[in-house]
Amino acid sequence: MLEVSGLTTKYGEISALREASLHVGSGEVIGLIGPNGAGKTTLLNTIAGLLAPSGGRVSLDDEDVTGHSPERLLRSGLALVPEHRRIFVNLTVEENLRIGGVTVPSADRPGLLEEMSERFPVLRDKWTTSAGYLSGGEAQQLAIARALMSRPRLLMMDEPSLGLAPLLVDVVFELIDALRAQGRTLLVVEQNATRMLELADRAYVLRSGEVVAEGTGTELRDNKDLFDTFVGN
Ligand code: ATP
Repeated sequence: MLEVSGLTTKYGEISALREASLHVGSGEVIGLIGPNGAGKTTLLNTIAGLLAPSGGRVSLDDEDVTGHSPERLLRSGLALVPEHRRIFVNLTVEENLRIGGVTVPSADRPGLLEEMSERFPVLRDKWTTSAGYLSGGEAQQLAIARALMSRPRLLMMDEPSLGLAPLLVDVVFELIDALRAQGRTLLVVEQNATRMLELADRAYVLRSGEVVAEGTGTELRDNKDLFDTFVGN
């Protein structure tokens, strides 16, 4: 479904991503792990059209989408739950969700809202509350639900468990598992490599902007040197 080849992204003269390649098949859950500053966020943001690559190619179902705008990519079925959630704190839960659904036909939006209210009981209970009053875990669920409102073919999440209390980290991983069970296609950046590897079909390890390893959770965990050096958590 998603094919990334030789993707390079620079901040000024510095290459934060160097010729990164990966692929995500339909229905796969793929982890993206690696130490701080490895380029994970840069990779997701480049795929999502928020950053312009200086080289390489991104294709979605064999269509070259390199350099397309985030909105166009969203319409093509690629949604991103950004780092630090970035929900609209002055808008209610429902309004945030409605914004997430702007790219789908208006006739489909009530059904999607209904689906989100069923899947996320904590959001249903705070439907008309300003999103600024949500706890970290609730805000993360809202950010994910907002992305799901666009009915993505591929959902990318950047550090969904970051900064959450342990119990809420469990909630986020359970949610990822539930989305997987539904057959959704996911590409997830996670600091919590151990848990991500338990859940993912495969994962890519990034270090200093390069993809240095790829494999199933078992393969990557069995490679002790790699796991301790590149992942370490
Ligand atoms: P983290 O887990 O800390 O978020 P990451 O793997 O997501 O790390 P990136 O945030 O993609 O890594 O950063 C990759 C490199 O690019 C780092 O060296 C970082 O300092 C640098 N970088 C990130 N954003 C910018 C920016 N806006 N301007 C300049 N350099 C940046």
